[in-house]
Amino acid sequence: MSVSPHGRKTTRLMKVYIETMGCQMNRLDSELVTASLRAAGHEMVDDHGQAEVVLYNTCSVRRHAEEKVYSRLGGDSRRKAHHRPRLILGVLGCMAQREGQELARRFGGLDIVCGPGQLARLPELIAAAAAGEKTVALDPDALEARREKKKTDHRGTEAQRAEEGDWLRSGTPLAVPTNVGIPDVTDTDDFDSLDMAREGSPDGGARSQAYVRVMKGCDNFCTYCIVPLVRGPEQSRRPERIVQEVRRLVDAGVTEITLLGQTVNHYRWSDGSKTVRFSDLLADVADVPHLRRLRFITSHPLDFTDDILQIMAERANICEHIHLPPQSGSDAILGRMNRKYTRGQYDELIDRARAIVPGVVLAGDFIVGFPGETEADHEASAGLMRRSGFKNSFVFKYSPRPGTAAARNMPDDVPEQVKRRRNNELLAVQEQVGLAHHRSYIGTTAEVLVEGPSVRAAKQGFEPSAERTQLVGRTRGDHIVHFFGPQSLSGQYVRIRITEATSLALRGEEEKEEETVSRRGEER
Ligand code: SAM
Ligand code: SF4
Repeated sequence: MSVSPHGRKTTRLMKVYIETMGCQMNRLDSELVTASLRAAGHEMVDDHGQAEVVLYNTCSVRRHAEEKVYSRLGGDSRRKAHHRPRLILGVLGCMAQREGQELARRFGGLDIVCGPGQLARLPELIAAAAAGEKTVALDPDALEARREKKKTDHRGTEAQRAEEGDWLRSGTPLAVPTNVGIPDVTDTDDFDSLDMAREGSPDGGARSQAYVRVMKGCDNFCTYCIVPLVRGPEQSRRPERIVQEVRRLVDAGVTEITLLGQTVNHYRWSDGSKTVRFSDLLADVADVPHLRRLRFITSHPLDFTDDILQIMAERANICEHIHLPPQSGSDAILGRMNRKYTRGQYDELIDRARAIVPGVVLAGDFIVGFPGETEADHEASAGLMRRSGFKNSFVFKYSPRPGTAAARNMPDDVPEQVKRRRNNELLAVQEQVGLAHHRSYIGTTAEVLVEGPSVRAAKQGFEPSAERTQLVGRTRGDHIVHFFGPQSLSGQYVRIRITEATSLALRGEEEKEEETVSRRGEER
């Protein structure tokens, strides 16, 4: 190790492997971290065995995701102890924030524990680790951060007061250990420095899709959810910076942008003179020249106001797809989950979305086996799934998360085998609903953004050729479409005549220009 003229530690360049668990937010974080490590001169490798630095970007939403990381860390620690003493091991993201020092104590071979808000410091932490220093770098305690937020909030005073009430009523922060080894340099007003440092295309190569974060954290405190405790208070990014980042990506060849937030439709920026709501942000981003598709995830039903639906209907490049997790179809369970809407309000929202945004495609998330869930509650969830006609749904078995209100106050009283059965039953309902949904597209033509050769085809032993391989892409409604064509179509928009459907995907054939003109009237 040496010391740079600025007094910062530098290190020799290393081979870095990063594995990502969890949601799109984590995938974006890993992409930004990868870019910053490349900029610092490190080489990213796909082979875990070759790496000199192994990083896990982790998820704490369910216990299962955490167990996977413990198992990986156990194996890596043994490898380090017996064969690779200089291997640098790091845990990033939500598990790092949740467990902090405890994780470092449990796995003695761990060099870096880095919370989600500290990722910009990673090149520095790797340099320190190469010099033999272990670091636990965490975001401010969730309670502290919420107090701080009061001083710097850009959501306006009324919203601030309402939110304060919310988290004081329902949220209890975890006891998070403080930073060790290096000073805390968290700047709550500059939390998007990694995003802004991003250069052009998402991974340095040519890609047509990219995620852009519009906010971080969450103040909702659904009683089952760890996110507000590990990702901290909700903070919206300055709108100009979001638009600037989108422009840069589009200039570098990206044509489809997905705006990300835990409750993306709760985005709000206010600086006293103007207030930007989520619908205003959508309009501003949609105006970026040459942006062909604009998406956003994940939406909270409570905040899905009609101005958002209107702007979706008005702007041609905003895709008619909404991921709108209901979590449950029963009012009793929704109440205990602190979701703040009723079944009736959810049903009405779906009806309004269908009325205002023609052809809107909906997707859901459900939790089965939440404390106290009866067979009648479970049947209500199945009923909601049938009524909503979701394209797809993610179904999760309830997993108590330490520190959440549900884990503290509600016994996990639905037996594991009942959770498993309900999980399978909801998946079976979704299969029927998804099949009916996908079948309704047979005979229509869809615009498909081609993502590349299909992994499924490769697994089935299909031998691709440059002229003809099985390709996979997505429609504006986020349907997966398989078809045969040349690999050169990757990243292009093509028109596909839909001929077959399963519960999860569509299959079709590329339509040539002349056919497109004659069949335009059949589109939906
Ligand atoms: N912010 C999104 C929302 O409000 O719907 C969801 C974010 S959460 C990271 C993703 C999904 O994980 C949730 O929609 C929920 O279904 C599931 N989830 C969260 N906590 C869970 C828990 N303790 N057990 C099981 N599933 C959980
Ligand atoms: Fe978790 Fe609820 Fe926030 Fe979604 S809205 S991240 S489920 S607390």
